[in-house]
Amino acid sequence: MSRGMQATDQNTDVLIVGAGMAGVMAAVELQRVGFRVLVLDKGRGVGGRMSSRRVGGATFDHGAQFIAARDPRFAAVLERERRDGSVEPWFRGSKGGVDGPMHWRGRPAMSAVPGHLALGLDIQLETSVMAVRGEGNCWRAETATGRSITAGAVVLTPPVPQSLAILEAGGVTLSPQLYGRLAAIDYDRCLAVLVVLEEPSRIPPPGGLTLAAGPIRWIADNQLKGISVEPAVTLHATPAFSLEHWDHDRDQVGRILLDAARPWVAGGIKTFQVHGWRYSQPRRFDEEPCVAVSDAPALLLAGDAFGGPGVEGAARSGWAAAEAILGRCRAFRGSAAA
Ligand SMILES: Cc1cc2nc3c(=O)[nH]c(=O)nc-3n(C[C@H](O)[C@H](O)[C@H](O)COP(=O)(O)OP(=O)(O)OC[C@H]3O[C@@H](n4cnc5c(N)ncnc54)[C@H](O)[C@@H]3O)c2cc1C
Repeated sequence: MSRGMQATDQNTDVLIVGAGMAGVMAAVELQRVGFRVLVLDKGRGVGGRMSSRRVGGATFDHGAQFIAARDPRFAAVLERERRDGSVEPWFRGSKGGVDGPMHWRGRPAMSAVPGHLALGLDIQLETSVMAVRGEGNCWRAETATGRSITAGAVVLTPPVPQSLAILEAGGVTLSPQLYGRLAAIDYDRCLAVLVVLEEPSRIPPPGGLTLAAGPIRWIADNQLKGISVEPAVTLHATPAFSLEHWDHDRDQVGRILLDAARPWVAGGIKTFQVHGWRYSQPRRFDEEPCVAVSDAPALLLAGDAFGGPGVEGAARSGWAAAEAILGRCRAFRGSAAA
C-alpha cells in the first residue's frame, strides 16, 4: 500500500474506487483470476465504514460494530479469517436472546478484517477520485492531486451519491430511468461518540446493547468486547437524532448523548470525541447486487446499497461486480473468437 503518490499516469485492467468491504472483495476476486487491479481510496486506512480508532490507550470500533453472516460463501470467509486471527466470535443471538446468527468482532479491532483481506492488493490510500470519464474503449479516472489512471473497467464502491458525483464530474450520462433509480438511494446519518472512561461502564456482557427508546440506538463497551485496554464506550445516535443535530455544535451534541447514556456510563469521563457518518447505512436497497452503468467498457456501481445490508451485503456486492466484469470479458472473448 502507498500513500499520496505524486502525479503520474498509470494504466490498469480494473480500477476500483473505494477500499471498503465491497471494493476489497471485488479486488481480491479479480486479482485472483489474473487481472491487474488497482484500488484507490481517499481515506488514510483500508476498510471504509469498518473503522477503528485509538484514543490514548483506548480502542474503539466506531463504524460497523459486528459482522454477521447468513450467506454460506461469506460465512466461509469469516471462518478463514478466524483461522488467520483477524476475527473472532463476539456473541450469538439478537435482542438479548441466544438464537440467531453469530456476531463476529474484528481482532484486534474491526479494521483488521478488511486490512487482512486486502493483503497483497495494490491499494493507494489518501487518493481521492474526482471524476471518471470515457476515453475510447476504456475509462480515465482523475484524482484530486491531478493524477490520471486509465482502466479497461471501473468499479465505483463509495456511497451512491458520491459515486454519482464522480460520474457527473466526468460527463458520464445515465439513462433517466437508471439515474432516478440510483438517486433514490439515500442513507441515514449517524452521530457517533467515542468516550474514554475513568472506570468500567455498566453495560452488561457481552458489551453491546440496541436501545429501543431515546436518542441512542446502540451503545457498546469496547473493553468488554475485548478490543480496548482502557474503558471505552461507543455511542451511536438514532437516525432521527443525527439528522436533527447534524449541524449543531459537536461538543454540545456529545454532551446530550452522554447525558442520555448515564445509566450505563456512571463514572468520570476522561475525554470524548464526536464523529459524523454522513452515509451511515442505506435506507433502501437496490434490487440488483450491483449496477452496470456501461457494459463495454464496463463501469459498475457496487457497495452495501446493492448487496443487502451491512458488511455482508457489501461483500456480496463486491463479488457480484467482479463476476459481472468476468462475464463481460468471457462474452467479449467469445464474440471475438466467433
Ligand atoms: C455507525 C455505523 C454502524 C454500522 N454498524 C454495522 C454493523 O454493526 N454491522 C454491519 O454489518 N454493518 C454495519 N454498518 C454498515 C457497514 O459498515 C457498511 O455496510 C459496509 O462497511 C459498507 O462497505 P462498502 O464497501 O459498501 O462502503 P464503505 O465502507 O463506505 O467503502 C467505500 C470507500 O470508498 C471511499 N471513497 C469514497 N469516495 C471516494 C473517492 N472520491 N475517491 C476514493 N475513495 C473514495 C471511502 O473512503 C470508503 O473507504 C455500520 C455503518 C456505520 C457507519
